[in-house]
Amino acid sequence: MAELLADDRAHVWHPYASVTDPLPVFPVASAAGVRLRLADGRELIDGMSSWWAAIHGYAHPVLDQAVRTQLDDMAHVMFGGLTHAPAVTLARTLVEITPAPLEKVFFSDSGSVAVEVAIKMALQYARGTGRLERTRLLTVRRGYHGDTSGAMAVCDPDTGMHHLFTGLLPRHLFAPAPRPRFDEPCAEHDVADIARLLDEHQHEIAAVIVEPVVQGAGAMRFYAPGWLRRVRELCDVHGILLIADEIATGFGRSGELFGCDHAGIGPDIMCVGKAMTGGYLSMAATLCTDEVARGVCASEAGAFMHGPTFMGNPLAAAVANASIDLLLTSPWRSRVRDLQVWLEQGLAPARDLAGVADVRTLGAIGVIETREPVDLRVIQPLLVELGVWVRPFGRLVYAMPPYVMTCPDVAALAAAMVEAVARTTG
Ligand code: PLP
Repeated sequence: MAELLADDRAHVWHPYASVTDPLPVFPVASAAGVRLRLADGRELIDGMSSWWAAIHGYAHPVLDQAVRTQLDDMAHVMFGGLTHAPAVTLARTLVEITPAPLEKVFFSDSGSVAVEVAIKMALQYARGTGRLERTRLLTVRRGYHGDTSGAMAVCDPDTGMHHLFTGLLPRHLFAPAPRPRFDEPCAEHDVADIARLLDEHQHEIAAVIVEPVVQGAGAMRFYAPGWLRRVRELCDVHGILLIADEIATGFGRSGELFGCDHAGIGPDIMCVGKAMTGGYLSMAATLCTDEVARGVCASEAGAFMHGPTFMGNPLAAAVANASIDLLLTSPWRSRVRDLQVWLEQGLAPARDLAGVADVRTLGAIGVIETREPVDLRVIQPLLVELGVWVRPFGRLVYAMPPYVMTCPDVAALAAAMVEAVARTTG
């Protein structure tokens, strides 16, 4: 293990990490159900679902088998000029389960690329429909949409990476983050700023992009479905496309299959990823309406100009099909509802801690927001010592467990989070 760690330190670059001043990493040997087994033999309850993805837990026999079966036919073939049953089945399913009127599916290999694809679709649509000056996007503060340049440019301008790449990113429009909480109504003044921006900049906006109902990696905030409904209406009034980034919310995490379902709206373009393959393989998709697809293809290029090498990967598509089947045939809705209740109960004691600003839950998401940023170097090893895998960032110590986690495991997970926050905040 010492050698592995030494080699890791010598050669491997971890996410959001420095190679000169690295953060601690923990060698993991295997994962099964809701537990990660570290190379030193310790077992951790997994509160992260590997960044929202492993909704069925690890080493699920149905998903393992789906990969094996597909492997007997083919692991990968290019998607230019070829097609195959796993991808076609997945596209049909996605169209069936996502809000109408999404019709067409473009596959890619990660969430960030799915967002790039969505943005490019909106821009090509603007050109194809003769509105050449519509080259900007409008979004809200506190958002997160990925780490590639196009996606970065619509992340929160303060907590995102804008200041690091000043002058290099396209300059988009930012409305305040949605104010009303999830269970509050949306008043007209709550959409006044975004309405004004849409009004003033209508001629140059190609699309509005938002994370429906849950602002994830940028803030872990839950906002009112009524706000999303109003934004849909405003987009319609101004003839502007609405892009729903469901990469974090998709496949049940917030208590509905998609975040848009809370508001009963359909976007013009939707991105999904993460949980689509049950966390097995990297795959994402961008869906759009027939209207958007036709507009894109009416642009000068006559086609949508994108084509990743691993687009539609059969192994990933096969396991995505199995994962979605597994989800839809499981009592996922009641499981997610139970998780919300158990997380709420387990995290409640954090409300009494002086260092805690807020505790909130929605669906299978539980958040402790601290008053000051947590020190990852201190809290991460402590969480491991307490037997759980949770990866805090900034002022957020949060859990998004696999949907199959039991009540005692959620209780242990939440207790460890509260304990770690109690011990590391003032
Ligand atoms: N969009 C949202 C809402 C996300 O939460 C994420 C990742 O956290 C992304 C996009 C980027 O996805 P990926 O990390 O697969 O590129």
